[in-house]
Amino acid sequence: MLTHTEALHAVLSAAIPGPVETRSMDLAAGAVLREDLLADRDQPPFDRATMDGIAFSRTAWEAGVRRLTIEGIQPAGAPALRLSEPAAGCFRIMTGAVLPAGCDGVLESEQVLFEETVAQIADTAVWQPHRNVHGQGSDKKAGHVLLAGGCVLTPQRLAIAISAGAASVCVSQPLRAMVVSTGNELVDLGEALAPYQIRPSNAYGLVAALRDYGCRAARKHVPDDLEAMRELFSASVTEVDLILVSGGVSKGLYDFVPRALEEAGVEKIFHRVAQKPGKPLWFGQHPQGATVFGLPGNPVSTLIGFREYVVPWLRRSLGLPDALTEWVTLNDLPASVAPLTGYFPVRKAPDMNHPCAVDLVAYQGSGHLAALAESDGYVVIDPEVVPNLTTAIPVPFRGWGAI
Ligand code: AMP
Ligand code: MG
Repeated sequence: MLTHTEALHAVLSAAIPGPVETRSMDLAAGAVLREDLLADRDQPPFDRATMDGIAFSRTAWEAGVRRLTIEGIQPAGAPALRLSEPAAGCFRIMTGAVLPAGCDGVLESEQVLFEETVAQIADTAVWQPHRNVHGQGSDKKAGHVLLAGGCVLTPQRLAIAISAGAASVCVSQPLRAMVVSTGNELVDLGEALAPYQIRPSNAYGLVAALRDYGCRAARKHVPDDLEAMRELFSASVTEVDLILVSGGVSKGLYDFVPRALEEAGVEKIFHRVAQKPGKPLWFGQHPQGATVFGLPGNPVSTLIGFREYVVPWLRRSLGLPDALTEWVTLNDLPASVAPLTGYFPVRKAPDMNHPCAVDLVAYQGSGHLAALAESDGYVVIDPEVVPNLTTAIPVPFRGWGAI
């Protein structure tokens, strides 16, 4: 049986960055950028006033002149004016306007008394050249990298791309995915339910989780029937990039998923990982088709399996770097830890002295889906850590949100 680290390594080794496509900026939010975006011109493209006020020359200031003739107005969006009397004149200027020629800086309106044609500078005013001026090219020079490929186009990055005039960008193509729930006990929403039946919550959770990575996944269900499973997997394994199966991978009499997958041509890479919950995890790949994760059906195992293994695979396949580990400290320790990598749902409980502290949430095991309502994520406790584990030792934290 592989350790968690070995299993993750096997998953990552099986992932390669997928194909790209060109997308218009209107549709690019949330996509993974796959090219470097360069500044098309200096940023800012001109010496830009950062305050409303007056623009004037250092000549006037250094000569002690504090009463300046207003030669005109320099609004945003207008070409630069030119100061005719550097020793005695000024312009009224607005935020975002280009610094007029012959001016060295801007004094904010709060320090100026405006008369009809004169600006009287307050005695207490302080000023020096370049004040309230955002210098041309001081953020980025034309041709320099503004956004490096291999990042998600979050709203702020999208705004940066737009500032460089990008009308379309090269991004990762969405992966095609299918989520398969298995089990005779599952009854879909809207259908009547007997006391011994349950809702396919895993399938809905996985479809929602995949959406965070730009995948629109088809949702399918198969009963605990080898033939039905083989048929579904054979028909779809070359049609999609990723198949997530929930349930049917343990040692029960009706756990046909591994056999059905192999009979559909999916080659097993590993089955079972030394972890709790989620030990029966199955992973494989079709030589010309999908990568397949068989996630154990207990709801907490399914969601943790997704976060531990599917997310790293997705990131790599989409061309993102591996995520950094977040570290937290536990306010309380788990009562018992098996000699396996353990996952424990936690809630963030930061305070000034312990900014990364978390509390364990009450949790009865991998079937206890409702416990996750109280959690922000879970911690990972490796067996080697256990003998020395205290509330001061940082442990890895995985949040439920998309990363
Ligand atoms: P299995 O991995 O198939 O042995 O299932 C383990 C447990 O997870 C059983 O109690 C199942 O009823 C439950 N389970 C399996 N699939 C789902 C699902 N899609 N949603 C919620 N629970 C599930
Ligand atoms: Mg089952």
